[in-house]
This record gives sequence, structure tokens and C-alpha cells, in this order.
Amino acid sequence: MTTVPQPTAETRWRCALCGNLTRFDVTRSSKVVEYVHLDLAGEPKVEEREVLSETIESVRCRWCNAVDQIELVDKPGVES
Ligand SMILES: [Zn+2]
Repeated sequence: MTTVPQPTAETRWRCALCGNLTRFDVTRSSKVVEYVHLDLAGEPKVEEREVLSETIESVRCRWCNAVDQIELVDKPGVES
């Protein structure tokens, strides 16, 4: 499994192959606790969701379909 770099406050994802900055399919696995509130008819509604852990497993570029060819670049306007 390839490690996908995490974007930070100053950086964003960029597809290393085609330069796409804006469109990705992100496969994410997460462990969450949900507060499920059922109404009297038995219809559940999730009112709170707490993320305990979250892992990005892969990122696929929507433009060229490259998988895990993601690099981090500076966001526009950020002084380096
Ligand atoms: Zn791409």
C-alpha cells in the first residue's frame, strides 16, 4: 500500500502525471462512532459522528486515472 501524502495548511495535492489539482477519487477507511437517534417510527438518523481514526488508502486522479501518483505542492499565495 502506497502512502498518500497528507495535505497541510500550506500544501495541496497535485497529480504528478497530468498536473490535476482539483479532482480526485479518494478511498478512505475510517473508524467512527455515530450517535444514532431513532424516531418513534424506528427511522434512524445519525446526529453526531466522531472520527476515531481515518486512513486514506488511495487517491485516483479523475483526469488521467493515475493511482497514488500524488505529490504535494504549495497552495497559491503561500510564501515559502
Ligand atoms: Zn492525473
